[in-house]
Amino acid sequence: MGKIDAHVHFHPAKAGAIARIMDENGLDCMVNLGILEVLDIPFEEGMAAFRRALGERMVYFTTPDFRDNTPGFGERMAEELERKVELGARGLKIFKDLGLRYRDAEGRLIPVDDPRLDPLWAKAGELGIPVLIHTADPLAFFGPLDESNERWEELQLHPDWHFGAPGFPAHDELLEQRERVLARHPGTIFIGAHLGEYPENLAYVDSCLERFPNFYVDTSARIGEIGRHPAEEVRAFFIKHQDRLLFGSDLVMGWSAFGEQDEDDLAGIRRFYDLHWRFFETDERQIEHPGYPIQGRWKVDAIGLPPEVLEKLYEQNARRLIL
Ligand SMILES: [Zn+2]
Repeated sequence: MGKIDAHVHFHPAKAGAIARIMDENGLDCMVNLGILEVLDIPFEEGMAAFRRALGERMVYFTTPDFRDNTPGFGERMAEELERKVELGARGLKIFKDLGLRYRDAEGRLIPVDDPRLDPLWAKAGELGIPVLIHTADPLAFFGPLDESNERWEELQLHPDWHFGAPGFPAHDELLEQRERVLARHPGTIFIGAHLGEYPENLAYVDSCLERFPNFYVDTSARIGEIGRHPAEEVRAFFIKHQDRLLFGSDLVMGWSAFGEQDEDDLAGIRRFYDLHWRFFETDERQIEHPGYPIQGRWKVDAIGLPPEVLEKLYEQNARRLIL
């Protein structure tokens, strides 16, 4: 079975290294999110470099430029999306800054459900491409910034990931904003990054998947949280929602602001992927999660999914939605 990693970020200069990593780890295709715009790499040049090294083994999701925040930005983002899809983009990526940092020309925070963005969501639906949306962050990032915070070590490395200070919307408020977008755009497919960014609360993610047929979630960078629940509960969730889940890892290469992987550390990357396979495929107890220890100094219980569910998670769902 050739797996698809539906959530990675890598620079065009790392495409050759990525090809080797894919060969080594049984991956058929990577979904590369937003890196060209984030790093200000000219789009056509970046896409050509990806194609030369990877051909059809990578698909790219473009992200809007929120530096354009004057009236009409949603319409212009929609036009730009259409142009980039013509040039080969296969989806839209929205970073967590929407709702937390992006501001309009008046200096006001742009909420996730800002009606000015409706043309963008509608355009994605019209073009038949999915929106991979990251909204909010781990609950702990919204808590107090001191040693009592269970992600204290990570927040010390990335102080800008802390949203517990005044001026930031609450975690739940952000997810409610996203729900309003899901309800307003039933014809657009949204994939909630990081298990919809509420892996701490499987009941919430379950209810979102129940209420919004256009909502999907990926597993990226959250095995540590997902695996904290009793294994039987998680397994039941994955079986119930087997058509709505996409495997993603959040592998990062060539984006140093983000805690990237070292391309020469092939053994480390092999181990990173193997920890995912062990989590989904075996019944092992108290194993390390792929983000251990920085994403939490605790162990997880693997969930031993049936083969037909694994095939959907690893490959078929992404193929249906993205490829
Ligand atoms: Zn990511």
